[in-house]
Amino acid sequence: MPLAVRRRPLALFFLAALLLGAPRAFPQSSLPDLGSVGDIVLSAQAERRIGESVVRDIRFRDPAYMDDPEVADYLNKLGGQLVRANPAARQDFQFFAMHDPVVNAFALPGGFVGVNTGLINLADTESELASVLAHEIAHVSQRHIARGFAQEQQMQLPMLAAIAAAVLLGRAHPDLASGALVAAQAGSAQVSLAYSRDFEREADRIGLQTLETAGFDPRAMAVFFEKLQRSMRVSDDGSVPGWLRTHPMTVERIADAQNKAAAMPYRQHVDSLDFFLVRAKLRAESGEAARAVRHFQAAVKDQRYESEVAARYGLAFALLRAGKTKDAAAEMAQLRGLGASSAMIELLDARVKLAAGERSAALALLEKASDRFPESHALAYAHVSELQAEGRNDEALAALREAQRLHPRDAHIYALQAQTYAALGKRLLQHQAQGEAYALQGNLPGAIDQLQIARAAGDGDFYQLSMVDARLKELRAQHAEEVRDAKR
Ligand SMILES: [Zn+2]
Repeated sequence: MPLAVRRRPLALFFLAALLLGAPRAFPQSSLPDLGSVGDIVLSAQAERRIGESVVRDIRFRDPAYMDDPEVADYLNKLGGQLVRANPAARQDFQFFAMHDPVVNAFALPGGFVGVNTGLINLADTESELASVLAHEIAHVSQRHIARGFAQEQQMQLPMLAAIAAAVLLGRAHPDLASGALVAAQAGSAQVSLAYSRDFEREADRIGLQTLETAGFDPRAMAVFFEKLQRSMRVSDDGSVPGWLRTHPMTVERIADAQNKAAAMPYRQHVDSLDFFLVRAKLRAESGEAARAVRHFQAAVKDQRYESEVAARYGLAFALLRAGKTKDAAAEMAQLRGLGASSAMIELLDARVKLAAGERSAALALLEKASDRFPESHALAYAHVSELQAEGRNDEALAALREAQRLHPRDAHIYALQAQTYAALGKRLLQHQAQGEAYALQGNLPGAIDQLQIARAAGDGDFYQLSMVDARLKELRAQHAEEVRDAKR
């Protein structure tokens, strides 16, 4: 791993210190009961800000961060189903993927949940994958991170971010993570990287309930725990990977999940097509393209698959990646013949057409598909990017306005809007849109900076300038409030 990754915890520690002001101690007597202690330690808003800063850090510095809107769309759809089934999960959640073979998922402060590709690959059913996500969502909904700190006598807020960074670093470097933890923790009593055993039991219990309520197979949790336990036994270098390191699999834990699930009504869950498509995509993208092609060719030929649609999708994807555009187009026709419906199939078809030089056919397909699958961020991005590439910037702006209506909190849509305005030479509007992109990522100083540039751009009318001024005032007030909260 590059040096930047190794150095992250310290950088983050200081970043968090800047964000939140000097560490402070809370008098023992002010601690209320456990249920609300999390709010004393840090407000939900401050927790969100820490999470946002950690996510920004991962996005820009960790090469494993997966900038793949299709995988993110899938994880957010699956995660959203689970969040809705957990009545205590009241904040916004955001799921993202990490390109990492280690089986792991982790919750950051503020509702951000990272999911390693290794976990997606190990899960044979959607319910197995959902069981780990439901467990992580429970850590967030029960505010375990904040409550863990509240149990310490002296609570230092920046330490929370340092711990979060250490958790992340621990994905790849368990030793470094504990070193970073010791550094962050110097002088303080034992705070462990893992949650306490009580919190783990609570996350298992609530996670299982969530799984059942959301319509997944609750038996999958114990099945997946056993699978994890077996994977630990075969680990040749004796290291304990990812999730298992912070979640030791005990006989008691597995039995508990089994017994509780046995008391629930039997439920067969039909896995979504996108679960199989995402797994096929990850497989088609990994290793040599020619090998991926052979893998899917054999799977299709021997009918060795859970889903024929996904196997053919994987084959078309791998062929495209291998530069065999004609074969990919032929495979795409076979896939279309199966009549399956998914935004991922539309987007692959558009990519095959683009590779074949059929630009107007690709654009027409993207336009139709974005109307048909309005929930797909990936299709919206691709549609807009293609309009931009064709120089049809006014149409791109119209598509972006529609996308903003559907996904008002999507920073990337604002970033695409800024690009489009830049191409049109509209500087005020460009920096205004970029400012909104930063604001949505929780980067208020960056947002304020952009609005100041917008104001000085000199190409806005009176109405536009008043809009920028009003927004600037709002953001400055919001930023001042955060700084004040952090210092209080
Ligand atoms: Zn846990």
